[in-house]
Amino acid sequence: MSAIDISTKYPPVRNYIGGTFVDGEGYNFLDVTNPASGSVISRVPLSPATAVDRAVQAAKRAFPAWSNLPIKERVQIFFRYKTLLEQNVDELSALITEENGKVDSEARAEILKSAELTEFACSLPQITAGEVLEVSRGVECRVERFPVGIVASITPFNFPNMVPNWTIPNAIALGNCMILKPSEQVPLSAGRIAELLRQAGLPEGVLNVVHGGQETVEAICDHPDIEGITFVGSTRVAKIVYRRGTANLKRVLALGGAKNHLIVMPDAEPDMTSSNVVASMSGCAGQRCMAASVMMAVGNTDHIINRMVSIMRGVKIGPVISKEAKQRIESYITEAEKAGAKVLVDGRGKEGPGFWVGPTLIDYVTPDMKIASEEVFGPVMVIIRARDVEEAVRVQNKSRYGNAASVFTESGGVARYVMEKASAGMVGVNVGVPVPREPFSFGGWNESKFGVGDITGRGSLEFWTKSKKMTTKWNKEAGINWMS
Ligand code: NAD
Repeated sequence: MSAIDISTKYPPVRNYIGGTFVDGEGYNFLDVTNPASGSVISRVPLSPATAVDRAVQAAKRAFPAWSNLPIKERVQIFFRYKTLLEQNVDELSALITEENGKVDSEARAEILKSAELTEFACSLPQITAGEVLEVSRGVECRVERFPVGIVASITPFNFPNMVPNWTIPNAIALGNCMILKPSEQVPLSAGRIAELLRQAGLPEGVLNVVHGGQETVEAICDHPDIEGITFVGSTRVAKIVYRRGTANLKRVLALGGAKNHLIVMPDAEPDMTSSNVVASMSGCAGQRCMAASVMMAVGNTDHIINRMVSIMRGVKIGPVISKEAKQRIESYITEAEKAGAKVLVDGRGKEGPGFWVGPTLIDYVTPDMKIASEEVFGPVMVIIRARDVEEAVRVQNKSRYGNAASVFTESGGVARYVMEKASAGMVGVNVGVPVPREPFSFGGWNESKFGVGDITGRGSLEFWTKSKKMTTKWNKEAGINWMS
């Protein structure tokens, strides 16, 4: 923790409440670090419960007018916001690279994905029309969706722009007012999102950004006027937020960590498989909840593993998020080596400045090793050998997580078997990162997600709205029947 220091590249981060950026005067601050250089670029306030309450009061003031606007008018803001994301892609992606460390192409892809998420929100008027049916002569039942009210979105460090945009466009287009609590490790992108939405015409108080860490999140979970919370982050914290939020009678959707398995069959197409597997484990320095971290090598796949080794040696990746992350990742590798695994490509020992770990491939890992079951969250892939696809799926399904799973094969029968049997919310065939794109929804199973529904796409509609069931009768002839 450190006092405010004006020597950083960016001024101290400010909360955004009721349409105004406000200083965190008197709050404690944390350093914001560029992971590529290790230098401090800004400072972020650790906001107390009073700041959360101020944001909630601003959201409550905004809610009546915002929720009263027809959805067709609300989405006009998001048409403009999408254009602004596209017009500002250079600057927004550079900011991601600076605070998170992603390479330029990854940071740009993140902004394009934010634009796609916003495009989906623009289509909500077409897909949220209510339902109506004459259920008895002259008696009509209809269902209409209403916003939940004041909602909160708590986000992780690994997608500073995209994960906030998983929730902001849909929740707000559907009439809610929101408190965003970004990761304290990457708070700068959230400020730009707020500015662009203001430029797009979003009224004050509809989106508020409150920065901080544990204390801020706890205040969100406890605030009586926040009706719904989404969380994206580690399973450890997802459980805390889910338990605390639901204990306070809120609806909560909490997405957690992952340990994604790719099953590689001996008949898999060698070039595509080796390049896709390496891209999955090394993209964003392995800091994606959809990154593959275990390869289940079925039978003889050595020709594919050899290709992976040579691709990995030439791959350029960004740094990991912090010094602590580098130490954690390297200690997992060292422990696996000590337990008898064979390190084929070793990313340890890269010198600073900054926090660098190279792509790492470890063979002959067994399911009982720590590195086989725990989330490493770095550019590390372990290889577990399996006799057949049944054994591969059995090992995979012992994981407590269930975000993604994929199989590389030329056999339709094997592909179908894995898709059906994998205990994961998102499965792929010959795809290293099986992220569903809009209008399909994002969400895992098991300890990768707590709560009902998904966080994006059509699956998010139930979470961001409550339905009202209306029964009406207008003609007198229908007045006397069992429904009167
Ligand atoms: P994290 O759980 O450490 O932090 C996430 C958020 O929780 C942050 O906003 C942080 O301020 C807050 N937080 C941290 N500790 C807290 C505590 N004790 N009490 C209350 N709030 C707390 O996660 P991270 O390191 O920022 O992100 C990486 C993790 O997120 C990985 O586990 C990754 O798999 C996961 N993730 C999951 C998905 C998904 O869709 N399932 C997507 C992206 C990231």
